[in-house]
Amino acid sequence: MAQCPPASIAVVGAGVGGCALIAALCRGGWSGAISLWESGRGPGGRTATRRSRQDAGLRIDHGAPLFNISGLAPDLLEPLLVRGVIEPWMEPRARLDAAGRLHSEDSRDPLGEGALYRGAGGMDGLCAGLLDLAQAGPAAASGVAAHYGVLVCYLAVTPGGRWQLFDRERQLLAEADWLVLAGTLLAHPRSRMLLAWDTVPLKEAAQSLDDPELQHVLAALASLRSEARSNLLLVAEGADAEVWRRCPFRLLRFDAAAEQRWRLSRLSIQPLADGRVAVAAHSSAVFAAEHLSVYGSRSSIARQLGQLPRQEEETAVIAALSEALQDALADWLEPGLVARGQRQLMRWGAAFPREPGLPEDLLLCSRSRVGFCGDYVAGVGFGRVEGALRSSERLAAMLLDILRAEDPAARSPS
Ligand SMILES: Cc1cc2nc3c(=O)[nH]c(=O)nc-3n(C[C@H](O)[C@H](O)[C@H](O)COP(=O)(O)OP(=O)(O)OC[C@H]3O[C@@H](n4cnc5c(N)ncnc54)[C@H](O)[C@@H]3O)c2cc1C
Repeated sequence: MAQCPPASIAVVGAGVGGCALIAALCRGGWSGAISLWESGRGPGGRTATRRSRQDAGLRIDHGAPLFNISGLAPDLLEPLLVRGVIEPWMEPRARLDAAGRLHSEDSRDPLGEGALYRGAGGMDGLCAGLLDLAQAGPAAASGVAAHYGVLVCYLAVTPGGRWQLFDRERQLLAEADWLVLAGTLLAHPRSRMLLAWDTVPLKEAAQSLDDPELQHVLAALASLRSEARSNLLLVAEGADAEVWRRCPFRLLRFDAAAEQRWRLSRLSIQPLADGRVAVAAHSSAVFAAEHLSVYGSRSSIARQLGQLPRQEEETAVIAALSEALQDALADWLEPGLVARGQRQLMRWGAAFPREPGLPEDLLLCSRSRVGFCGDYVAGVGFGRVEGALRSSERLAAMLLDILRAEDPAARSPS
């Protein structure tokens, strides 16, 4: 694979989109410096796994518990499988109806179509594995500098056209030739409400660039809407864990009527190596919308906003979800079992983007040297891990093509 002339790139967001982009760039011969910026404690984003320093055996996939590939396999899939980073997911699945009856899963579930996979050892292994793939690429020498626990708050463009990233105190974090937003926060008006910013950072930076295409992207991103989820996370041990293990499914989807009745959408049962069982019950979008201001005291957004835990409200949400879960699974769980579990709340403010997403032809504004990838890009896999992988591979190919075209030495003699 021919190396590209060196150009630096700053990627904001270490979810599947950002990590896959970096893997695809490095495998494709990108030779310049790459910096990765992520507000969370590590890579993962919505495929993160909750772990605990105090409890080494605990591991809950609290975002996506698995992922599906519904179309042709993205190029990155095979190396991830070969390296054992991901593995096929072959556990029993079922669908619950509003009468509490089980059915075999049908093909109407967009999250269950095609081949299913999970991160080996936890879903967070997927992003970590993508970054390992990047380090093994031909351009590994220049390396990837990953920065976690850093919220990028402001953007600017130098007179020479280089991108600058700043933190909350407007301290310069990085300068790069190219910028990629692998998360929408810096380009979406929700940043103003969420983080009390006075402006949309990319919109502010774009004022100094005369780029109609970027204005078009900003308008498309501003109209993006997403669905939230309020998830009940539960850990059961001893005899209670055994009851969860005996359930005839590891993944249960609530059909539309069941979702309306119990205000739950999915349930993922995750046995732990030490005999305990972790359970993640995902709320319906409607339930989450009604409880949007209750974050869960341990969520990273609560930490970033310096929010004090609102214990009473959180307890009430946990109780409502627990009651619904207990009732929906009355045929399998003895009374009181859910309430005996060690429980907490995880709220995803933007769990799934809503259609139509960012049009695929707006993935890259080459004049401004800014690109976009992630599950919010329209196309196959939209709103899912598959879409994040695909949009990143596409963006990487476009970036590599541009660099090679700009470099006379890389052009073959005609
Ligand atoms: C509860 C739940 C269940 C799901 N189930 C499934 C499923 O079964 N199958 C499936 O395929 N998909 C599922 N998904 C969706 C899937 O998780 C996402 O499609 C995928 O993870 C999106 O990856 P991404 O990289 O596009 O975005 P993200 O994972 O959101 O990554 C974006 C990253 O950017 C970071 N970031 C953004 N702005 C900044 C900033 N200014 N500074 C620093 N960092 C920043 C964020 O912290 C985040 O980590 C589920 C999601 C949730 C929440």
